[in-house]
Amino acid sequence: MPETIQCDLLISGGLLLNTDTAELSPGSVAIKGDTIIAIEDVPSNYVPLRRIDASGLIVTPGIIDIHTHVAGSIRRPSPYVEDMMQDADTAGVHSGVTTVVDAGSCGITNIGGLVNHIIPNAKTRVLALLNVGSPGVNRIPEVTSALDIEHDAAVAAIQSRKDVIIGVKARMVSPGIAELGFDLPKAAKSIATEAGVRLMVHMGDTTGQSDQALNAAPRILAELLEEGDIVTHSFTAARGGLIADDKTLLPEAIDAQKRGVKFDIGVGGRNFSFDAAKRVLDGGLIPDTISSDVTLTSRYAGTAFSQMDSIGKVISLGFALEDALVMSCRKPAAVLGPEIERSLGCMAPGTHADLTLLRVHEGAFLFIDGDNNINHGPYALEPVSCIRAGQVMPIDYGPRPKGWLPESL
Ligand SMILES: [Zn+2]
Repeated sequence: MPETIQCDLLISGGLLLNTDTAELSPGSVAIKGDTIIAIEDVPSNYVPLRRIDASGLIVTPGIIDIHTHVAGSIRRPSPYVEDMMQDADTAGVHSGVTTVVDAGSCGITNIGGLVNHIIPNAKTRVLALLNVGSPGVNRIPEVTSALDIEHDAAVAAIQSRKDVIIGVKARMVSPGIAELGFDLPKAAKSIATEAGVRLMVHMGDTTGQSDQALNAAPRILAELLEEGDIVTHSFTAARGGLIADDKTLLPEAIDAQKRGVKFDIGVGGRNFSFDAAKRVLDGGLIPDTISSDVTLTSRYAGTAFSQMDSIGKVISLGFALEDALVMSCRKPAAVLGPEIERSLGCMAPGTHADLTLLRVHEGAFLFIDGDNNINHGPYALEPVSCIRAGQVMPIDYGPRPKGWLPESL
């Protein structure tokens, strides 16, 4: 008789996602503390304190959403504007997402609230990108002139907490892009370079559709972004995105991806178009990662309801379920760095016990884009549970009147 090995949790009966091969196969996961200690054919001498029956479910490495807005409760109180930011755990563990990146909700004036109050109190792992505009999106637009960008203070803020502030975020929207043109992304890149972190650029001038955004786009891709930098909103139809005025993909995007620039989908309220998506894909660019850009507003009013909804939307464009899942765990983990890719992006003995359990519903689901166009998708994802650092987290009711699933035919 082999000796008994005690573990805390045994998840069995589900289909495990292999993120190397993008394949699903039956297997179990044994967890002790915050670490996976055995996987696939877990021997019968592993005796758990608690079992989870995952029959009918898919088990993935913890889902990672690299574009969210979770600075809820630290925005300026205003009689005019509701707090559009949500709570980190609503976008995170209670939605089946174990790691989120807050993508520029805060600039130097308010990043302290995120770092000192929200991040330590969240059950979700929260990382942050510093908005290049000092007010963050506490004031929209956050960049109206060069005075809103404070280089030295931004570098100092990042360097004070590089463990959680992992990059710079800059939105190529009016009036900032119309006023500053290419100097806007250049100023953001120079902060990122001096602080030694990555840059995420929001491409697509949703507010102004300006010529300056259009003209800056190929230069940002060709001259500015380096390996490890990120373009978000890859499927936007707004001017200054990846689609030129002639409706074709900018060739500079393909070259940038070859250099190691990462392309993120960042669904968002108005930054995702089925038509633009088809043009980007037809042009030969397959984005690296799926993210939601979810806010409190978009969670309930759409069109970025949740990361699960974002994955269903991408599948509706013709992606395989398994590939879309890899684009939501392994690939975003890789974007966050090789160490995170090894510890969070795959399931193996010794990796971190962050997992997501999903039920995949089959049907003809109605997914909606930022222009209210509808695309039919074959799958909708419902988070059933997630494990964060070995702890089982409850899932909430979901963003829609009927829970997690979109309407279906
Ligand atoms: Zn955003």
